Amino acid sequence: MTVDLRSLYQEIIVDHNRRPRNFREIPGADRTANGDNPLCGDRLTVYVNVRGGMIRDIGFTGNGCAISTASASLMTEALLGKTEQEAAALFEKFHDMVAGPERGAGGSIGKLEALAGVREFPVRVKCATLPWHTVRTALNTPGRTASTE
Ligand code: ZN
Repeated sequence: MTVDLRSLYQEIIVDHNRRPRNFREIPGADRTANGDNPLCGDRLTVYVNVRGGMIRDIGFTGNGCAISTASASLMTEALLGKTEQEAAALFEKFHDMVAGPERGAGGSIGKLEALAGVREFPVRVKCATLPWHTVRTALNTPGRTASTE
């Protein structure tokens, strides 16, 4: 990875941590779930409205480190307007990127690649994947808590 790319990725993470996108509760959301990463102390709630199999609205609240907050922010941007199947596919690609045996095996995933560097820091992988485990729980088994442990 070039130095320029690395600093661009760093900027994206800092920006999304300072000004998280879709950082709001959605009152009466169709599907919600809590996420808990006890190792770092990240806790969040994800809210999703699904209509006709498509994610029409998505938001999150909570307290977490810079990586989990930036990851949740980038995730909500990426998932808005996606179908549930597309969301599941993106979950797999993201997971492959940060924790899979071969980096980038799933192909490019745009701005989400800003988080690719966490694969070198196993503790941080849990921070980056927490929002994704939480949204998967919200979509598949709403009301449950996703835990990284
Ligand atoms: Zn964390």
